[in-house]
Amino acid sequence: MTDLSGLRTPGPTIIALTEPFWKGGEEGHLMIQRCRSCGRVVFYPRAICPHCWSEDLAWEQASGRGRLKSFSEVHKPGHPGWLPVTPYVVGLVELEEGPTMLSHVLAAGRPPKVGDTLVMEPTDIGGRILPAFRLE
Ligand SMILES: [Zn+2]
Repeated sequence: MTDLSGLRTPGPTIIALTEPFWKGGEEGHLMIQRCRSCGRVVFYPRAICPHCWSEDLAWEQASGRGRLKSFSEVHKPGHPGWLPVTPYVVGLVELEEGPTMLSHVLAAGRPPKVGDTLVMEPTDIGGRILPAFRLE
């Protein structure tokens, strides 16, 4: 597996709304929101439910499992800090709970393919523990 810990990459911009997501990732949990009004799952973090407009959203731990919907092998990263590990894979992960998230897909012994089952892997990227996904 590629060591990403020494990268000099920009980290996430953490605000009060998103802090539970990033803090959960540091602790090895994938956190998502659920609307207490309509019961649907919400991701990315929001102040208002996109399904029913309720402001009554609560955080819960997701399974951390998902399916690779699509991916891209990045050869020219958007930030030069990623150059030492090119090419790398970024994928759209459909979480078991429903929402789709964009994430780094960790290198494995074979190239990923659409439909692969992925599991969240807390990963040291540039000195910060962030949620990434690996092949199951
Ligand atoms: Zn709702």
